[in-house]
Amino acid sequence: MSKIVPADDANIALAAGALRRGELVSFPTETVYGLGGDACNDRAVAAIYAAKGRPSFNPLIVHVPSLAAAAALGEFSEDALALGRAFWPGPLTLVVRRQRKCPLSLLVSAGMDSVALRVPAHPVARALLTASNLPLAGPSANPSGRISPTNARHVEEGLGDKVAMILDGGPCRIGVESTVLSLLDEKPALLRPGGVSPEEIAAIIGRPVEIAAPVGDVEAGLHGPGRLLSHYAPDRPVRLNAVNAQAGEALLAFGRNAPHAGITLNLSETGDLAEAAANLFAMLRALDRPDVTGIAVMPIPEVGLGIAINDRLTRAAAPR
Ligand code: AMP
Ligand code: MG
Repeated sequence: MSKIVPADDANIALAAGALRRGELVSFPTETVYGLGGDACNDRAVAAIYAAKGRPSFNPLIVHVPSLAAAAALGEFSEDALALGRAFWPGPLTLVVRRQRKCPLSLLVSAGMDSVALRVPAHPVARALLTASNLPLAGPSANPSGRISPTNARHVEEGLGDKVAMILDGGPCRIGVESTVLSLLDEKPALLRPGGVSPEEIAAIIGRPVEIAAPVGDVEAGLHGPGRLLSHYAPDRPVRLNAVNAQAGEALLAFGRNAPHAGITLNLSETGDLAEAAANLFAMLRALDRPDVTGIAVMPIPEVGLGIAINDRLTRAAAPR
């Protein structure tokens, strides 16, 4: 049965209910259709990664209804405030530091201290944000490696079995993703080109924008030397494929038969990979304590979300 429903008030209310229960809903924005989930709910965010089938945890854009809502989640400098006032609602995503007590899932930030925030202009997206009263994680609603969807049918073809419903708001007006601008470093850096140009941004903040990613190469921009994704790693050394913890080590366990001795956290007692993904970053941080010599990690099956989990753990364990 088709999941596509007209984006009227009644269906938006149903969609908001589904989101509050942790389910996924696809919704139109002015750029492309988003795969929406409660950005504060680790399990909902894990379900987004699982649905897209990404082999790694790329951080997701969080959609909020207003600049004030964005500034409650992230730290907004004068530049960030000026850009929000100039371009929101609209196709600009700002990457800023998370507020100290930010309620957003760590998984939405791929474990980092930063968050990407956007206020969409599409009336259906705005109505859904209001009705759900939730910040919504919303990457493009396509399986990893496929083209971003610009109408409800595209979403149904790619992810129809993964969502509670698809709100049909017609074709997207812009059809390309938002511009992603990082304000984390001294120089504002363009991570992804999109609807708002670097010149328009420079005109607002009164200084030039650094082009971090070659056009169309977001992955290289993010993972290249010194780029953002490589920054977060635990302070303690990480040892993979551990059977148990050695003296002084904390254990990041997985599965039913895991040992319980010492400082141990279990990603999922039942061996559920979505639960493990939901717990990954919070547990890694909790075990990264000054009183342990290292973090021993039990093996995670290399299937489904396990591939993304292992990708992250391998990078955490890499020599640095
Ligand atoms: P999307 O698939 O549309 O959600 O695109 C998300 C893109 O936003 C990622 O590929 C990154 O380029 C960028 N992004 C999101 N969150 C962050 C973050 N915390 N730090 C840096 N870039 C981010
Ligand atoms: Mg995408």
